[in-house]
Amino acid sequence: MWKCALSACLLAASVPAGAETLHNVRTYEAPDHTRVVFDTSGQATTNIFALTDPDRLVIDFRNSRPATDFSPDFSNVTGRRLQKVRMAARGGDYRVVLDLVRPLRRKDFWLKPIPPYNHRLVIDLFDQQAAPTARQPSQPQTHRDIVIAIDAGHGGEDPGAIGPNRVAEKQVVLSMAKKLAALFEGTPDYRVVMVRKGDYYIPLRRRTRIAHEARAHLFLSIHADAFKRPDVSGASVYMLSERGADSETARFLAERENQSDLIGGVGDVSLDDKDPYLRETLTDLAMEGKRRQSSEVGVEVLNRLSRVTKLHKKQVGHAGFVVLKTPDIPSLLVETGFISNPSEARRLNQAEHQGKITRAIYDGVVKYWRENPPPGTALAKVHGGPNANGPNSAGRVPQAGASVQAGLDADERRRREAALVAAIDGAVRSTGLRRRSSPPGSGQRPVASPLQAAGPPPSVRSP
Ligand SMILES: [Zn+2]
Repeated sequence: MWKCALSACLLAASVPAGAETLHNVRTYEAPDHTRVVFDTSGQATTNIFALTDPDRLVIDFRNSRPATDFSPDFSNVTGRRLQKVRMAARGGDYRVVLDLVRPLRRKDFWLKPIPPYNHRLVIDLFDQQAAPTARQPSQPQTHRDIVIAIDAGHGGEDPGAIGPNRVAEKQVVLSMAKKLAALFEGTPDYRVVMVRKGDYYIPLRRRTRIAHEARAHLFLSIHADAFKRPDVSGASVYMLSERGADSETARFLAERENQSDLIGGVGDVSLDDKDPYLRETLTDLAMEGKRRQSSEVGVEVLNRLSRVTKLHKKQVGHAGFVVLKTPDIPSLLVETGFISNPSEARRLNQAEHQGKITRAIYDGVVKYWRENPPPGTALAKVHGGPNANGPNSAGRVPQAGASVQAGLDADERRRREAALVAAIDGAVRSTGLRRRSSPPGSGQRPVASPLQAAGPPPSVRSP
């Protein structure tokens, strides 16, 4: 929409020894914030401060110079929060001024180098007041829509896998996510929550939280990944593993996907992790019914996918994807194909093939819910069946096949789990031990919870 004055770039003459260079600046607009990213040769000392009348943010990079090829691109800025960016040398320093539309709340942090990036300074500018979120009209408890949370992987600073001809996973999967959303939105008794709506990054834990807050019945994460060997191809469907990945490819993919927060840029990864070990233990507990459902939906989706594309795995795979780790929502990660395979990358980038893939995913999901309508939804009323009566308060855990907790209704199960959570939480606090706070080599062991005997510790780790 506008371009910055780049005359200052011409000043990039000789860079004194020990100085940092500024290589690029990018911006991304999310619904609630705008992110500005500076690529630098090293972690420069900065002085960042706000000025008013007019509102602006000043970033002084000490002892720094723009690189000779410095040519920032602000073409995706809409003027919603940022008006203009000005830059100029000031003595030995380099000053960047962000002209703001209004006062904004700021969070800034440095990210360490990780391919494809070197050092990055990230400045997130948040709206002072959260935009009013569109709430669904309140529906009677027995007439809820089935809510599908669709998560397009990666985004913003995290391009995901890059294929031949610079095909980026983040673009391909957003396009497919939008097609998938349109199919569900056009179906009576279904509603969609798009986790990511544009080209910006959302931390992995926040993705699942968005689904949780929308009381989603299903979380679908859409990806198109890369492998070390370009001949590997085909689609696969993954659910969260109970104890480790079931193949080398699965482990490789999960490691890649779980790196997203490091690449995409999260200032405080640990914020959500009150006590990761406790979380994992409890997650295991709440997981059983959800795992069965994930598996059953996954089989239907795989079945439909097999009609439109080659399958990389003929069964629902298991791997430790962080994004699937929500205890109360069945969750699947669909690898729609390998972007590292030249011919598959070409297909994945074509609208027609994207349409076939998304239709297959949609058909599989709709078939599953038609046969297993979640309690409390309009679909359960229409189709009857074992779940038609007795809506449970959350409407997320159909009874059919919940063999582990047979005999307990959903509310009772939830009450017992909550009591157990409180008990374990108390036990952890009273021992004063926290798994990750033990100094290395101190010999302290993780808190032995009464649940530990149920199996080995879960394999999932947040990045
Ligand atoms: Zn991915």
